[in-house]
Parts: sequence; C-alpha cells; structure tokens
Amino acid sequence: MRNFGLNIWSNKNFIIEDGQIKLNYKCMPSILEITENIRANGVKGPILLRFPHLIKKQIRTLYSYFDKAIKDNNYKGSFNAVFPLKVNQFPNAVQAITSQGKKFNYGLEAGSKAELILAMSQTTIGAHITVNGFKDKEMITLGFIAAQSGHNITLTIEGLGELETIIEVAKECDLKVPNIGIRVRLHSTGSGIWAKSGGMDAKFGLTSTEIIEAITILSKEKMLNHLTMIHFHIGSQMSDIAPLKRALREAGNIYAELRKMGADELNNINIGGGLAVEYDQHTLSTSRNYSIDEFSSSVVFLLGEIMNAKKVKHPNIFTESGRFIVASHAVLITPVLELFSQDYQEKLLKFKKVNPPILQELVELNKMLSNQNCIEYLHDALDHMESLLTLFDLGYIDLQDRSNGEILVHNIIKKALYLKSANPTDELEQLQVKLQERYLINASIFQSLPDYWGLDQHFPVMPIHHLNSTPLRAASLWDITCDSDGEIGFNPDKPLYLHDINLDEEDYFLGFFNVGAYQETLGMDHNLFTHPSEYTIKIDDEKYSIVNEVESKNILDILESKGYDKTNILEKLKNDLVISDFITEKEKNDTLAKLETFVEQNGYLRTTN
Ligand SMILES: *Cc1c(COP(=O)(O)O)cnc(C)c1O
Repeated sequence: MRNFGLNIWSNKNFIIEDGQIKLNYKCMPSILEITENIRANGVKGPILLRFPHLIKKQIRTLYSYFDKAIKDNNYKGSFNAVFPLKVNQFPNAVQAITSQGKKFNYGLEAGSKAELILAMSQTTIGAHITVNGFKDKEMITLGFIAAQSGHNITLTIEGLGELETIIEVAKECDLKVPNIGIRVRLHSTGSGIWAKSGGMDAKFGLTSTEIIEAITILSKEKMLNHLTMIHFHIGSQMSDIAPLKRALREAGNIYAELRKMGADELNNINIGGGLAVEYDQHTLSTSRNYSIDEFSSSVVFLLGEIMNAKKVKHPNIFTESGRFIVASHAVLITPVLELFSQDYQEKLLKFKKVNPPILQELVELNKMLSNQNCIEYLHDALDHMESLLTLFDLGYIDLQDRSNGEILVHNIIKKALYLKSANPTDELEQLQVKLQERYLINASIFQSLPDYWGLDQHFPVMPIHHLNSTPLRAASLWDITCDSDGEIGFNPDKPLYLHDINLDEEDYFLGFFNVGAYQETLGMDHNLFTHPSEYTIKIDDEKYSIVNEVESKNILDILESKGYDKTNILEKLKNDLVISDFITEKEKNDTLAKLETFVEQNGYLRTTN
C-alpha cells in the first residue's frame, strides 16, 4: 500500500512524484511546498487547504454526464443542479461553488431560515434556490420575499400544513408567490449509512393521499399553476443504485399522474443528493456500486421511459448533490508532534561498566543482524526479551539494564521489519501490529473529522512527503484533545503504515483527504479547539497562489464565542499577576507580555510543530 490507495480514492486529483504528493493540475504544486509556504509565516497547528479547481471539476463532470445522457436518450428536459448549503456553508467554499458554477446557473438549496438568507445573498438573480425542511410562516414569508426580489425560488412542502401556510401568506400580502414543490414520501428506501431520508417511515414528505389532497387544495385556491416541482432525497452516500432506480420510477409516475390531473406547470423532478464519494483506501470501489456515468444515464433513461409510456412531457431534472461536489476540494494537513516509541532511540542506551550477559548478547544480535540471519536473530531477541523481563521481576537486573534491553529489542525488530519489508513473513506482520507506533497529530478529530468520531467514516490519510521510502510502522493516530475517543486506532483489516521519522530533525505531515463535505459544519469545539486555519489555493499554469486566509480563532475569541467577556478574562489574569510578588519589575513585565501573546494565538500546540 505504498501509494496509500491513491488510485482508489483520489479520482486522479493527486499524484505522487519525487516522494511527495502533488496536485495533478496545471503547475502541479506539491502539498508539502504549499504547507511550508504557509507555515513560513508562523502559522502553527492544522491547516485546511481548499482547491476550487476540484469543485469546478465536479460541477463540470456532473453537467457533462447529464448532458451526454440527455443527448444519448433524446431526452427533452434540461439538467439543473443546486448545492445544498448544509454540506458546507463556509464562505470560501460557497464562494468557490457559486463562482465556478456561474456558467451553469448553479443554484443553492436551503434547509433553514439562516440558510435561506444565505442563499438569497449568495446566488445571482436567476439561479435556482430550492428550500427543503420544516418551515414556519416566517420562513415561508421569506420565500415570498425572495420571489418578489426576483429569485427563482421553489418552496418544497414537507406536509399539508406548510401548503396551508403558503396559501395564507399569499392571501395576506401582494408579494410574488414562489414556486411550490412537493416532497414525496417514497415507499422505496435508500441505502448506505445515511439512508433515513426515504421510505414510508421517513421524516419527510407527503403520502399519496396527501399529494391528492394538496392538488385539490391548490386547484380550489386557483394556485395549481404554482406547483412546479416534485422532490425526493433518499439519503446521503448512496452505496447502491437500485434504491435510486426504484425511487425514480415511483417519483416519475407520481409526476406523470399529477400532470394528467391538470398540474400544467409541473415541469421539474428534483432527485435530491446522495451521489457517493469514494473514501476507501484499501479495496477498490467499495463505497458505491455505480459510476457517475451509470447514475446519469439511469436517471435520464428511466424518466424518459416513464414519460414516453404515459405520454407526458419530459420533466427538467434537478439534483442537489452536496458531498459529490465538495468532498474532494478540501484537504486537512496535520503536523505530527510526537512518535511515542522514540523513547527507544539507540542514543538513549546507557551501558554500565559491567552488563548482564544477556544484554551483551542483544548488543551482538543488534550489530550482526543481516538479511540472511534476521529471522533467526529476531527470534533470539524476542526470547531474550522474555528472559530479561523475568530477570527484572526476580530482582536480578536493574531498571537501567531493563531499559537498555527494551531499546535493543525494539531496534532489532525495527531492523528486521526493514530488511524484510519487500516480503514480510506472517510473523513479522503480526509483530508490526503489536508494535504499533502512536503518532500524535496537532489537530482535533472532533473538530476536523467529526464523521469519524460519530459514524466511523474512514477518510483517506497519508503522509504528504517521504513517499519514496516504504512506511513500516503500524500507526495509530492520536489527536490532542484529552478525550480517549480522539484516536484513530490501527485497524489490521485496513492497516495504516507510516514512516519512522526523527521529529527532532525534521517535520512530518499527514494529509486527510476528501474532508470538504459535512466535516467543517459538523465539527465541534471539543476542548475549545476551533476551526483550523484555512487557505484557498489557486493553481495556474506557471504558479499557484495562496488566498482567502482565515486564521484559526485565537484563544480569547474562542472564549468570547462561548459567551465569556474576553476583556474581563484578560484583566483578571493580568491583575492576579500584577499583585503577586515578583522579584524584579522586568520579569513582571516580560511575563505580562508573554501572557498577552499566548491568549492572542490559536489554541493548537506550538511546541516543535
Ligand atoms: C442533505 C441533503 C442533500 C445533500 O445530500 P448529499 O448526499 O450530500 O449529496 C440534498 N438534498 C436534501 C434534501 C438534503 O437534505
């Protein structure tokens, strides 16, 4: 797994060259170089890199496959897409989507009042806004305000109550009435770990009886001409395409029936999101059983087939893919702060004038270990280790002897692993697992990979350099929160091997990939670690530029965001120092200055890395 599954998860976005991972685009900058450039300005802690060209790539991919399917199937409707804000509401992500999507008239989807306000402020007039989720009268009125302001907005109703409120608002004011959509409650269900959105017991949508009721109400109010869309969403990270096809047949037939019932302005089917992203690093294509090609042609073909059979106009197709559009655009870079077994460095050996014979033997084994004898010597060393511990328990050797022994045995194992790395024996592989190295990363899993913590979602992880040498250390990753859940343990079924680096001499950085969907918005300030410092990287033919810097919040601002008065906090701390009895005035002033500097930095660790 020397390439860390790059061929599986990276979608050709990255390549390995000269031992580093690089962007496979235009001037192909190395991620290490970008990271070092940013850190040269004193930035510490984790760094989130955004690559807008990867958003552009996903948007183009989506459109080009649907356009192709539309041509191939002689389909008469158009293809349209909106981005669901809940997947990433951060300004530099949204801005990348709206600017890269401009030429496609890419729209936004809102699921709450705040997201609706955001959508109204970020879309150009004419781009679609769709609104899902539960709505009160205020939110519905906001929809009218958006329509009045010229937005192409569709309010998708989740129940009949919302429809009644729309009618009520329409009667109370003269504002332009927004388009109305109906979310259908499907009897077919989704797949994957997030598949709770579809199905008879789903949280959202109207049953067939309620849909008929809605049509009756709209006709009676002479508002049926505002019904333009039907919508479904069968859940995120769809692993299987079969449930989508069932949902399409069901929704397609509902659409056709409603048109026959006189819904003449009903022109759109919104198939929600759910397009999956490959997060796996070990086995090819386990996250989903379909390609974007199959996805788009299935949707277009099925809808065309249903409409042709029922002799109904082909609907325009809308998607609300979120994960698929933004997951790949963000990469989290975390410095490694510590390798715990560096306690076993050879330089820490402290021999006495006279050492126990068993130690002499270990010294010899360590010195003479070679490719030919290494398995035999390894066995001897493991055997000596047992004896050594027994001798210690019985009081025959002291703590220094034991420490020397442990260092020597560790080194022998490491050397044996290295010598046999091309074709390790089962025994060596098991030893590797037992001898796990713990890598302390300067980041919070709760803040930056919350789906790992909450849902066991794996994210591709790899070092961004040293890729010319084989990594040999079975690795578990520890974050800097003081929570035992802040750990990505070594999993023998999906092993992660990292390099043995002397951090006193050089830096070691890990990259977590495909973290651009949901992670930032779900991230939590556990232990008061906040959003990492983020940067947008624009890549041209000749060079790249680092823009849109948003530094991680400083400590006082973190406390303020939780409701504390930051001025009071700083005053209190300074006062306590001022009235304490310092020996010299200079030391007092230096300490006060130190304190002020500390609270104005972010809360991630600054030592060594
Ligand atoms: C969450 C959500 C989406 C986005 O789903 P992805 O799996 O990220 O594509 C789309 N539509 C609705 C209604 C949603 O709730």
